[in-house]
Amino acid sequence: MTAADTALLSLNQSLPWQEEQWQQLCRLLNSNRLPHAIMLSGGEDTGKRHFAERFIQRLFCTTPVNEMACGECKQCRLYLSGGHPDFKRIEPESAGKAISINAIRELSEFAVITAHQQHWKVVLLAPVEALTLNAANALLKTLEEPREKTLLLLIHDQLATVLPTIRSRCRVVSQGLPPPALVREWLAEQLGDVSGTVDELLARAGGRPLRALAFAEANTLDDIARFEQVLKQVQAGEAAPVSSAAAFEGQPLAQLLEWLLAYYSRQLIHDAKTGRVAVPRQFAFYDLLLATRKKLESKTNLNPQLILEELFLSLSQST
Ligand SMILES: [Zn+2]
Repeated sequence: MTAADTALLSLNQSLPWQEEQWQQLCRLLNSNRLPHAIMLSGGEDTGKRHFAERFIQRLFCTTPVNEMACGECKQCRLYLSGGHPDFKRIEPESAGKAISINAIRELSEFAVITAHQQHWKVVLLAPVEALTLNAANALLKTLEEPREKTLLLLIHDQLATVLPTIRSRCRVVSQGLPPPALVREWLAEQLGDVSGTVDELLARAGGRPLRALAFAEANTLDDIARFEQVLKQVQAGEAAPVSSAAAFEGQPLAQLLEWLLAYYSRQLIHDAKTGRVAVPRQFAFYDLLLATRKKLESKTNLNPQLILEELFLSLSQST
């Protein structure tokens, strides 16, 4: 899952763990040394897209304040309207789809025309691992022929490797998981947290700040609590597996599976700690969860509802 960064944050909001890299890029920009291709690389939901969008607005802005886009000049307004003629966004048509060679051809055509606003031209391409091999090779040509005042910003979520030939032609800005203490402080500030959910949100989000924020906005912890309640009932034989699974129809199976894995791991650990010897069918169920996760990653044609029913059935027989 990738949280829609910008839907949760105001565009100009700075993220503390990106501050140093922000200043670095601004220094390069101000001294006319900005590379023509920059690859923001790191795990999902740490704010790379947000960083990219902010920086693009900063590039277009004609009257920046403290190295931040003013948000009010003509260029800023054009960009914020989504219709800046010197900006092009290249991404898959829907999540998980590929970026085809046609999109890269459009990019090349865009790169050669003169900027409308006599200023920068920018392409944001995300994620770079969605490029087909042909598209990646076509992109290579564009990277080999840099044009003045044309910036190509690539986002790499590290879900897969990127052709080394592409990587080597970009300035790579690594944005891995930020330090936990910094993220914790930031998230608490965003949520005005007094209820103590910050730690759980971060644990559920694997330390990814924007995912944790998205979970908070969507009340995901409540959803998890409800889901776990049903799991308990199924496990105790108090609820029928198939009809219980039906209540979650249409919800992303990958997410439900993660919650189920977390729930069941916790149970196994608790059993081990309290000296209760796990029986083979408990391990068999855990193996089934892992195997299902693998199956989902391979993206073959699956029937999510049927899989959830099977998992609930196995859960009811696992203890
Ligand atoms: Zn501006």
